[in-house]
Amino acid sequence: ADTDIAPIMTTRREEATGFFQKLVSKGLGWARKYSLFTYPYATACCGMEYMSVAASRHDISRFGAEFPRFSPRQADLLMVVGTINLKQAPILKRVYEQMTEPKWVVSFGVCASSGGFYDNYAVLQGIDRIIPVDVYIPGCPPRPEQVLDGLMLLQDKIGNQVHRLRDPGQPNETAAHHDRM
Ligand code: SF4
Repeated sequence: ADTDIAPIMTTRREEATGFFQKLVSKGLGWARKYSLFTYPYATACCGMEYMSVAASRHDISRFGAEFPRFSPRQADLLMVVGTINLKQAPILKRVYEQMTEPKWVVSFGVCASSGGFYDNYAVLQGIDRIIPVDVYIPGCPPRPEQVLDGLMLLQDKIGNQVHRLRDPGQPNETAAHHDRM
């Protein structure tokens, strides 16, 4: 009789574990999407709009993303703001690699997204050639409302990703990263 109920017990244990994991994932997603720490990688004129969106009129702090961090190790959102030339590209890649998981990338403006007007030998034709991008914000420069819209898109994405507590025996990676790639 014990052997008959063993599969049922196992299924229930798996269901309970699955339910707990979903609960943890939702909780982590909720916390992470409202506490983004931005590394503003600003290189050009779009930087002015970044300052505008971070200032009091548009008030990015309503979205929990007001603290710029100038160390990649303390940031989980890389905001690439402006033109990236080929000499900058390896530096940007290094900054991305130095950020800990989970991490997200926003491409701010057409220059970062596709090279924009600078279709020439010196400019990277889109940062997604060297790092993964989660949200593209169009515009030259994007208006602050567009930036906030992009931020809300990213929040939705983070909220719907699978988040796991880190296994101490594993490298510092999360399911969120793998699900995105
Ligand atoms: Fe400047 Fe326009 Fe390029 Fe932004 S998208 S960096 S405003 S040229």
